[in-house]
Amino acid sequence: EPLRSLLLSRIADVPDYPKPGVVFKDITPLLADAKAFGALTDALAELCQRYHADKVVGLEARGFILAAPVAVRAGLGFVPVRKAGKLPGATLAQSYDLEYGSAEIEIHADALRPGDRVLVIDDVLATGGTAEASLQLIRRTGAAVAGVAVLLELGFLPGRERLEKALAGAPLETL
Ligand code: IMP
Repeated sequence: EPLRSLLLSRIADVPDYPKPGVVFKDITPLLADAKAFGALTDALAELCQRYHADKVVGLEARGFILAAPVAVRAGLGFVPVRKAGKLPGATLAQSYDLEYGSAEIEIHADALRPGDRVLVIDDVLATGGTAEASLQLIRRTGAAVAGVAVLLELGFLPGRERLEKALAGAPLETL
């Protein structure tokens, strides 16, 4: 459909980045195109409504760029999930496995409360590790996951399957 082809036409393939053999999906052409970025923002804001979200969580760093205008458009607050060590207040932390080693993300412990319904936004779903850890973190605050929305899902990786348990029935939407 037209939104899908507009978005796809503004995502560039960068071969051998960040290392040989990897094809990086670069969303900067999409961000630089007001029509495409606006259409993406509208579509994500609509998902907030459809799933009755009352908070928007963005995942560092490209998830911030997408989620912040969505929160404003939808009339909702924005909450960042950050890499460890970046948030100034008391945090909850969650670590997850990478291909080599592990990573840790954090959320302010008081950013979400029981009863909140959260839509989680990121640019790319690859292995699903980042999104899975984010959902675990959000649940630990007592908030509910209204859904996860990403611009792009790498269909040749098992990200969707990895997320299934953490989603616990909540929708995963790929634009
Ligand atoms: P995952 O944890 O393996 O699913 O990786 C997802 C995270 O890595 C997201 O936060 C993305 O921003 C980033 N990422 C992985 N691959 C790409 C890519 O090809 N383009 C842009 N971001 C990517």
